[in-house]
Amino acid sequence: MKKIAFLFLLSFATLQLQAQDKPKTAKTSPRIIILATGGTIAGSGESSTKAAYTAGKVPIDDLLNAVPQIHDYGKITGEQIASIGSQDMNVVTWLKLSKRINEIFKNNEADAVVVTHGTDTQEETAYFLDLTIMSDKPVVIVGAMRPSTAMSQDGNRNLLDAVMVAASPKSQGKGVIVAMDEKVFDARDVTKTSSTNLETFQSRNFGPIGLIYDGKVNYYYQSLRNPSKKFDVTKLTSLPQVEIVYGYADASPQSVTGILGSEVKGIVYAGMGNGNFGEPVGKALAEASKKGIVVCRSARAGSGRITLDNEVKDEELGFVVSDDLNPQKARVLLMLSLTETADRTKIQQNFFEY
Ligand code: GLU
Repeated sequence: MKKIAFLFLLSFATLQLQAQDKPKTAKTSPRIIILATGGTIAGSGESSTKAAYTAGKVPIDDLLNAVPQIHDYGKITGEQIASIGSQDMNVVTWLKLSKRINEIFKNNEADAVVVTHGTDTQEETAYFLDLTIMSDKPVVIVGAMRPSTAMSQDGNRNLLDAVMVAASPKSQGKGVIVAMDEKVFDARDVTKTSSTNLETFQSRNFGPIGLIYDGKVNYYYQSLRNPSKKFDVTKLTSLPQVEIVYGYADASPQSVTGILGSEVKGIVYAGMGNGNFGEPVGKALAEASKKGIVVCRSARAGSGRITLDNEVKDEELGFVVSDDLNPQKARVLLMLSLTETADRTKIQQNFFEY
C-alpha cells in the first residue's frame, strides 16, 4: 500500500515538473509581449534551398501566425520595434527597445518579453538590455540563422523555445538571456562564433547556463555578474561615442590617430593576445588617453581575460581593461559608463563588476 502511495506521489511530482514550463490555465498563463526588430528570423528568400535572402522582411503578425504553438505557453501579443538586419542595429533603436521594455514592466503590461533579432549584433543588444532593464522578469532574445523560407529553417523552433523559456518561472532573475539552438546563454557571456553555421552562439569562457529539450528548460549555472544597479537610459537620446580599433601585426598608429579629433570619448582596443599592441599603436593610444579619451584594452582572441598591469602599465597610462568582455561588449559597457562618469577608476570598477 505504502509503495503504491509512493509511486502515485512520484508520478504526480514528475507530472508537475513536466508541466512547469507549459502553463495551461488562463489564470496561470503568463502575458508575453514579443518585440520584433527584424533579422533572419524574419528573413525571406526566393528559394528554399539557396542561401540568398533579405533580412527583416516578415512582419511580426506573420511570424506569430507561423508558430501557433506559442499560444500554448501564454497570452502572446506582438509589436514591431524595427525591421532591420541587425548589422544596422543602432543606439537609437537600443534606447527605444530598452525604454519600451522598462515601460512594459513598470506598467505591468506583461510578465515576460521576447525580442526577435538578427544574429549579427544579437549579443550586443542582449548585453545593452541586460545593463539597462530594471526588472527581474524574463527578457529573452532570439534569432535564427536560416530565413523562414529555407527548407530547414531554425526560426520557428527557436521562437517556440524562446517563448517557452520566457514563460517559465525558472527564468526569473537571470538578467537578459539568449535562447538559441536548444541552449540558454547569459547576455554578458554569449557571442556569435560562426558567420554561417547554425550552431553559432557560444559562451566561450563559461558555456550555456541552461539547456532546452522537448519544450522544457533546465538551468545549471547562473552568472554572478548581474548587478542590481542598472544604467538609467530612460531620459537619454544618444550615448557617448566609443570606437573600436583592431590590433594586428605591424599596425600603423593611423588606426588610432585617424579617429581622433572627432566626437570620440572612448576607444576599445581589440588587442592581440592579452590586449597587446605594437609600440607605434601603444604611443598613439597613450596620446589619446592623455587627451582625455578613455582607452579600454580588450582582445581579439575570443576568450580568456585581459589582465590589468601585467604586460602593459595600464594604471600609469590611464588605460582600463575589459576583463573578459570581448571588444563589442566592452564598447557597450564603456558607452554606458561614460553616461555617468569619466573617472577611470570608477570605469575600471564597472568592468570588474558588470
Ligand atoms: N545579417 C542579418 C542580421 O543580423 C542576418 C543574420 C541573422 O539574422 O542571422 O540581421
